[in-house]
Order: sequence, then structure tokens, then C-alpha cells
Amino acid sequence: MDVAEGADSRSRCQQLVGHLGRLAVAEDIMESTDDDGYECYTCDRMFSGRVFQVCREWDRVHFECDPPEVEISVATALECYCSQACMDERCAVVMANEGVPIRRPGIGPIEPCAKCGGPVDMAEYHKTYLATCTDMVNGIGHTVDVDYLAVLCAKCAPHRTTAGRAGSEANLTADSPAVDATNKVDA
Ligand SMILES: [Zn+2]
Ligand SMILES: [Zn+2]
Repeated sequence: MDVAEGADSRSRCQQLVGHLGRLAVAEDIMESTDDDGYECYTCDRMFSGRVFQVCREWDRVHFECDPPEVEISVATALECYCSQACMDERCAVVMANEGVPIRRPGIGPIEPCAKCGGPVDMAEYHKTYLATCTDMVNGIGHTVDVDYLAVLCAKCAPHRTTAGRAGSEANLTADSPAVDATNKVDA
């Protein structure tokens, strides 16, 4: 039963991914060690072509689109591997190092946080962990497969960009509040 559910959400995710060019992940791939070579984190083998990665990214889903689109803010590849087997071997370790249990989400609109089980509003930027398979062709990544591993709620992973934006907005309008504060102190 679990397997069937997993397969279902996975194929739905692939639909999403197919719609959105997931190039952001491939472009932000870890540094290539050579012109066209990657080194597998599991077996140390040099390889090129098809790259398996465990990634961490900020994304949000636009449910108003049909099919829904995933917008990626910042994507970071944590490790890369030469094969699915090598990725499978390391995946649990990588996630343990991140302190995030693997708890594969669906596509929302609300999914459980992998850490605390609280609600994750998929329409708002949230931290996502995923395992990807990408074919690199002439330096351009073509996503073959995406396996969403976990999503985190705003409490467990506050979105820094949102905080930064709030900060700069505060700065933009800081003049009058600052004056008010001064006036209050003076009074
Ligand atoms: Zn390998
Ligand atoms: Zn949480």
C-alpha cells in the first residue's frame, strides 16, 4: 500500500518536473572536477553524462497553473553519484547529516514537515530535499527523474530570503518609524 502511494506521488511529481525545466538544479551542480567529469561520493569513480544528486532547495508550487509549476529559488547539490545504487547507498547518510528524516511528500497543497510533522504550505517557499537524476548534455542538464525526499515547515527551516525581504522592506520604510521612535524618546 505504501509502495503504491509512493509511486503515485512520484509520478505526479515527475509531471510537475516535466513542466518546469529543472535546470536550476543542474546548473547549481557541484563543481565539476574536470572539464566534463564528476567524482562519485560513494565509490570515488570519475564519471560524466548521467549524474545522480541529492539536492537541497527552496521552492514553492504554483497551484494556479495547470499543471502546477514548481518555482525554485535556491538549489544546492549536496553530493553527486555515478549511479542510482551509489546514491541509494549514501542518501540516508546525507539526510542524517542534514538532520532531516526522509518522509516523502506529495505535491500538496499541504504536506507534513519531515521533522515535526507540522503543516508545510507548499505554495509558500519551503526547504525541500530531493534526489535527482540528470543527463548532462553539452553542459545542459536534462532531468530524468526526481524523488522528493522531504519538505520542511517554516518553523523548522525559516526562509532566509523572506526574512531578508522583510528586513529590506522595513529599511525602506524605516525613516518614519525611526523618527517616530526618536520623537517618543524625546517626549
Ligand atoms: Zn559511484
Ligand atoms: Zn517542522
